[in-house]
Amino acid sequence: MKFIDGARPITEAELQARNITRYHVTKFYAQQIANSGYYDQLKYIVEPSVEELDSPGVLDTSGEHDNTVVPGLQHKYAQTGLLLVTSRCASYCRFCFRKRLVGRDSDETVPDLAKVRQYIGCHPEMTNVLLSGGDPFVLSTAKLDEILTNLLPIRHLDSIRIGTKLFAFEPKRFEDPALPAFFQRIRDAGKTAVLVTHFDHIGEISVDAERNIRCLRAQGVQFLNQSVLLAKVNDDPEILAATFAKCHQMGVRPYYLFQARPVKAASHFQVPLRRGLEIARGVTQRLAGIEKTFKYIMSHYSGKIEILDLGDDGRVYMRYHQNKFPDRIGKIFSRPYIEPACWLDDLPE
Ligand code: SF4
Repeated sequence: MKFIDGARPITEAELQARNITRYHVTKFYAQQIANSGYYDQLKYIVEPSVEELDSPGVLDTSGEHDNTVVPGLQHKYAQTGLLLVTSRCASYCRFCFRKRLVGRDSDETVPDLAKVRQYIGCHPEMTNVLLSGGDPFVLSTAKLDEILTNLLPIRHLDSIRIGTKLFAFEPKRFEDPALPAFFQRIRDAGKTAVLVTHFDHIGEISVDAERNIRCLRAQGVQFLNQSVLLAKVNDDPEILAATFAKCHQMGVRPYYLFQARPVKAASHFQVPLRRGLEIARGVTQRLAGIEKTFKYIMSHYSGKIEILDLGDDGRVYMRYHQNKFPDRIGKIFSRPYIEPACWLDDLPE
């Protein structure tokens, strides 16, 4: 296998055992990063590195298996359903937290939409569904339409959210002439269509991406962006501030900056919490008030935790942004910080 650090013989069995995702990158993205002026950072997003071979961690850091209620549907937080609609992506990110399923055959994606519809129909507390994977937009628009056919009749769903990195990997996907009608269906059903882009770095935002985002916004689609804080890629407040400012300029609201997770074969991307907090603060110092819409988040087994500060008392202050148990949401708590902790479980009780 060709690694950033040089070629190395490796057997298929070893790749499986070490959780190494297959290498695949679109021509568009390869050219975009080569011409971006940031190749030395962006190459780590898609090109394999030997660090993956010995990067410790687990496969399911957020308890996705435990929160699966019917195959392919997770219901962890009361208002939100998470639907894994495919295990395929246009390119494979080396830091992906779903390495256990992306790029391979998986029984974790939705095989039976009728069961999903039935479950959601019986849960009126669920107001929004997030389509994820894999990348939903690798599916044909006809397949996405079939998913809508099952979701749109559910009256208590207010919005359909779709997470995608295709605006970075293959933005021309959004020039499909069938897409305006797809989003129109969502509007006609009285619901909001929200696309969650995944730009980690300003060098990923191409002219084609911006044009297609502007075009879809003009059709009433709302946009949010999520990024992952990644060692060697974007662990720099200048880069992240430029990325978020650019998102804001295109009408895409910076939403989450995720702490990278301790995933087997990807934990070398983690940045210690002390440094992460310095970066997050550095980003807010560089942005106008209207652009400071992101939260620095750890998506932990116990819930979504906003990472707030490292106090003079040596404790990391955090707050549950989402939790299975509503009474825990919004409460600030703290743990002693120990260098180089990167995750809640690295901090003593
Ligand atoms: S596009 Fe998303 S799901 Fe696919 S490999 Fe990248 S991070 Fe994982």
